[in-house]
Amino acid sequence: MTEAQPLRLFNSLTRQLEPFEPVHPGEARVYSCGPTVYNYPHIGNMRAYVFADVLGRTLSYKGYSLTHVINITDVGHLTDDADSGEDKMEKMAAQQAQSIWDIAEHYKQAYWADVRALNIRQPAQWTVATDFVPAMIEFGKRIAEKHCYELDSGLYFDVTTVPDYGRLARAQTDEGEGRIEQVEGKRHAADFAIWRKTPPGETRQMEWDSPWGKGAPGWHLECSVMSGQVLGFPFDIHTGGIDHREIHHPNEIAQNQAFCCTNGLDDPANSGARLWMHNNFLVERTGKMSKSSGEFLRLQLLIDKGYHPLAYRLLCLQAHYRSELEFSWEGLTAALTRLKRLVMAVETLKRRIEITPESLRGLEFREQGSKPAKQVALPERPHTIMEAFEAAIFDDLGTPAALTHLEMLLSKPGKNWELALETAYRMDEVLGLDLLTLERPALRLRPKSAEITESEIEAILAQRRLARAEKDFATSDRLRDQLAAQGVEVMDGDPLGWDWKLDAS
Ligand code: AMP
Ligand code: ZN
Repeated sequence: MTEAQPLRLFNSLTRQLEPFEPVHPGEARVYSCGPTVYNYPHIGNMRAYVFADVLGRTLSYKGYSLTHVINITDVGHLTDDADSGEDKMEKMAAQQAQSIWDIAEHYKQAYWADVRALNIRQPAQWTVATDFVPAMIEFGKRIAEKHCYELDSGLYFDVTTVPDYGRLARAQTDEGEGRIEQVEGKRHAADFAIWRKTPPGETRQMEWDSPWGKGAPGWHLECSVMSGQVLGFPFDIHTGGIDHREIHHPNEIAQNQAFCCTNGLDDPANSGARLWMHNNFLVERTGKMSKSSGEFLRLQLLIDKGYHPLAYRLLCLQAHYRSELEFSWEGLTAALTRLKRLVMAVETLKRRIEITPESLRGLEFREQGSKPAKQVALPERPHTIMEAFEAAIFDDLGTPAALTHLEMLLSKPGKNWELALETAYRMDEVLGLDLLTLERPALRLRPKSAEITESEIEAILAQRRLARAEKDFATSDRLRDQLAAQGVEVMDGDPLGWDWKLDAS
């Protein structure tokens, strides 16, 4: 474990930076709210998992044995985070005339494809909400008497039965501000469903028997149950996007307090997790990212337009996770160029050292939970840069500064290239840009719509080089125009050494 620099993280609950002190020595237990698999995730959703991944990688890098859990919500999430609206899964299943199970499976696979494409490490466990319904009923039974009341529509949690309700939230959470309340009979606007009964005369595709009648669990209950059961209360860190700071997580905390029979939040054990961390939003000016407006920005759209998905990961890392990040195609193009430069610099170092597969093996990423790689002594310049990198990343995951340190290292690697390369790889263990294996051709802008193949382009370019060597500029220009007509821009003298690119439009 690197002792030199403490890891400090921003706790939304106390609203301050706190040193990370694990509940179980040497371990880090992290729970991240996962997607509701009723539709494709948009790239904003994926920012939440890039953030959780950087957090997990940082904890592993620091030497903690990491247990990361991400859930898959396949039941219970309504179109409004509070208790109004329709069940997202039921609604989509009806729209697409498919079973909820098929919908959940399809979108879970799509989400996992994005997770892989963004080089997000596999968590120790994916918990699927429907696997935990019996445990949710048990949890409900334990808190029902003291903290809940029953209405025709379901079992509700009375938020006044726990101290400090809503302390996590920034917006006013009681008496309806910011919420449109549609459930009749609720004692307080902020009270929320633990169990939603199937209305008389209706059948839901997903419903279970419970002491409160046939129905389905409330969304907030899922995360309390899955996190508590798999990681044990209290665990170390709970993550999610800032929207969860307002309703979902305050409600989880209230349930956890009720379940653990604890009082105020001043004892950090009482909220279920010691640290609550939230990533800010990715925003888009035209608002097309929103899933409800029909068309939205998916990672696959970026890939179809020719962008390597890790350019999006880099775009995320360029902003601090607690800052809002505005998406634009220009920004993404710039991130792609920056990634190319990083990959080229690493390739140059590799060429100098003539690295072999054997020599790379020692540098491969550590798996979760494994012992950290032996710390190598770094006596030269990379050592100082590594320290600066660690200072940035251990200061509440300062990825923007960390990236700059990586670039400084690659631009002036010093004389010991092996050391520089090893240092770059260690930095990339945290950043996850796959600099170990990524190759320049994979980063070429290549829209799906392009019909011309790379070998066709290369063949025409070879002819053009020949024509130019013979000073036959007419042929050279004709070949260039021929390529342009097929969307290929020839890039003579490009500083990054690219011969061509495909038009991204
Ligand atoms: P959902 O599938 O709606 O539960 O969202 C999955 C995750 O994405 C949650 O942690 C949300 O807080 C987060 N999230 C939703 N929208 C955005 C956004 N535009 N930018 C960043 N994170 C988001
Ligand atoms: Zn959750």
